[in-house]
Amino acid sequence: MQSINPNLQFQRRRTPSVSEYVEGILQGNRVMLSQAITLIESTKVAHQNLAQQIIEQCLPHAGNSVRIGITGTPGVGKSTFIEALGMHITERAHQVAVLAIDPSSQMSRGSILGDKTRMLHLSANEKAFIRPSPAGDSLGGVARKTRESIVLCEAAGFNTIIVETVGVGQSETAVHSMTDFFLLLLLPGAGDELQGIKRGIVEMADLIAVNKADGDREKMAKQAKAFYNNALHLLPMKESRWTPQALTCSALSGLGVSDIWQLINDYQQFTKENQFFYNNRKNQSRYWLTESIESALHDMFYKDPSVSAAFSSIEKAVLEGQISSFRGAEALIQIFRDKKLEH
Ligand code: GDP
Repeated sequence: MQSINPNLQFQRRRTPSVSEYVEGILQGNRVMLSQAITLIESTKVAHQNLAQQIIEQCLPHAGNSVRIGITGTPGVGKSTFIEALGMHITERAHQVAVLAIDPSSQMSRGSILGDKTRMLHLSANEKAFIRPSPAGDSLGGVARKTRESIVLCEAAGFNTIIVETVGVGQSETAVHSMTDFFLLLLLPGAGDELQGIKRGIVEMADLIAVNKADGDREKMAKQAKAFYNNALHLLPMKESRWTPQALTCSALSGLGVSDIWQLINDYQQFTKENQFFYNNRKNQSRYWLTESIESALHDMFYKDPSVSAAFSSIEKAVLEGQISSFRGAEALIQIFRDKKLEH
């Protein structure tokens, strides 16, 4: 019988094998890349297993890129800037993948980059690949998925990876732990802004760009630039030995975007020469190894039925002051250990 839905055959298609996924990704096939990222994002164990095998086979083909982290408060112009930078570099034979980490998207189902009106030109650009933030129940989970997606994008030939995040919570630290270069976007208006931005974030920045330096705000942006340059001078020398600086740009008009790209290239050259670039990536892998162990142990512990069974009574004893928090933790860990020994 003729199907009334012409897509039915497509929907019923069997799942590609690991080698088909890998082959597709290595050939730069975006559909395969997207589907493999969907596997990374899936909570199903079978999908996770498949995803891990794909990642493993893509790893030898990954790493040949510059990974740029971009942060700034909502409205500062991140997506406008990424669009401008993306268009600028794709004209120069670069292929750019834009990923995101937005832990708040678990509520709004992908607010960041989820809005189709963002980055209109870049989304239509065949040298660009844009993927909204994965959803997840923890920042660690969301960050892991983005980090694994970077591997697949690089294997697919994207040599510039941009990871965007909103300036809330700990997501900047997560982005910093998976990128080579960290760009902080700020609004014109010195001083006040620094109050709103956590100090640690300024310290992480390899470059501060005061955006919206156009029209009436140009003068204010220049003042802000001078202010931030002073603030940056007061910070201790970075491990990379790179001296961060502040400059102005207008994502809307594109002014300053090429200077920023130049600085990113200078940074790469500088840190590759002094080896920081490579050492930093190794340290990031080490960090993610520890992080993965910790989160797996955390899950094993809290999902253990005998731990859950004893948890509330021990918690009650702690809250009523019958035993100390330390003793309570010790008792629960003992239950967990005994259970493990039984197996
Ligand atoms: P995001 O929330 O950080 O991604 O910010 P958007 O890129 O969505 O920008 C927020 C608003 O600021 C939009 O209305 C943009 O058009 C505007 N905007 C972004 N960059 C500039 C700029 O350089 N100059 C001016 N005047 N407006 C800008």
